[in-house]
Amino acid sequence: MKNFDPATQVQYLAQFGEFGDVNPSITDSSTFTFLGAKTMVDTFEGVAEGCFLYSRHWNPSNKYLADALSTMEGTESAWVTASGMAAITCTMLQLCNAGDHIVSSMTTYGGTFAFLKNYLPKFNIEVTFVDPTNLEQIRKAIKPNTKLIYTESISNPLLQISDIPEMAKIANEHGIKLVVDNTFSPMILAPHKLGAHIVVYSMTKFINGKNDLVAGAICADSKFINDLVNVNSGTAMLLGPALDPLRSSGILKNLHTLHIRMKQHGHNAMYLANRFTELGIQVSYPGLKSHPGHELLNSMMNSQFSYGGIIAINMQTKERADSLMELMQAKGVGYLAVSLGYFKTLFSNSGSSTSSEVPAETQSEMGLSPGLVRFSVGLDNDIEHTYMLIKEALEELAYI
Ligand code: PLP
Repeated sequence: MKNFDPATQVQYLAQFGEFGDVNPSITDSSTFTFLGAKTMVDTFEGVAEGCFLYSRHWNPSNKYLADALSTMEGTESAWVTASGMAAITCTMLQLCNAGDHIVSSMTTYGGTFAFLKNYLPKFNIEVTFVDPTNLEQIRKAIKPNTKLIYTESISNPLLQISDIPEMAKIANEHGIKLVVDNTFSPMILAPHKLGAHIVVYSMTKFINGKNDLVAGAICADSKFINDLVNVNSGTAMLLGPALDPLRSSGILKNLHTLHIRMKQHGHNAMYLANRFTELGIQVSYPGLKSHPGHELLNSMMNSQFSYGGIIAINMQTKERADSLMELMQAKGVGYLAVSLGYFKTLFSNSGSSTSSEVPAETQSEMGLSPGLVRFSVGLDNDIEHTYMLIKEALEELAYI
């Protein structure tokens, strides 16, 4: 469904504080009183409506943010977590038991890859890694004990595009879940509206956009979210990665400017991608017609939010990538730093940083060049000036 507008959904939220405050009140309490002992028991058993028990379970500030996220995604419910990794790991551990199997995209964030490859074997959960652009490979990888297909809507750092409707069809045929990490493309894609069952986020990135905290979210149907926080068996409740409600309140305010930020990130990234192409640099950006997933993304996206803020260029070797990044930082282009979705431009060499958990031979199998420089393009008002600084750096290093 292409015409679902997440920004307008968020705009019409009516969330107020205790005294008519225009921002919801912050509840910085870990526990809550009950007038009657029976209501406490009912809340433990999940049958009392509207009561809060303990903030590892639910907190009113976290609930405001979770409600806003489920509105943005068009899911019945959501739960917020203390990190993106917590959202991903709790989702997987909730869906799988020992002996189960996951089909995952080979090109995921390095931490996710490490969890799938190195951590899940502890629980005898097996993972088959597939090329996310090869639907036949995905179909063939499914076994009787497969519980989920996992992918990133726009992958980190290769910017491959997942065909969410087709992947959802495969998942539905087998009665399993499609879990999509939409960290790179909030607003641009609404994976649940395209068929995904569960959408996870690192809110550390674009959603919060300030690089001042780490947080995550799980958007899904009410049953899944209720199961996650079940006091006896819920992975989120029992592993306990609850988000600090003070942080929730900040993220909720930032969510209301996300649509403007995504447009500006996308505008600037598109500008740089075009100019890099003119210079003859190998550039990957899904907004370019030359990108293999361009048409697919067009068919799924909310076009008003543009093609996202992440671009990758290939400098061939790590040494060349490092020299360029150091010089760009010295010239004030932005910062040599991991993470993304910040108002300043950030750049990093993915192979030796955010994807360093992926072994060298797998990196090469995925097509990840050791010289890849990933840019998270900032909100620069004068992107032409930023481009001139990057061009100067490329010229000084004799790369162009
Ligand atoms: N998903 C993606 C696509 C990411 O890029 C990251 C972090 O870089 C994560 C998940 C993990 O999020 P967090 O660092 O908030 O735990």
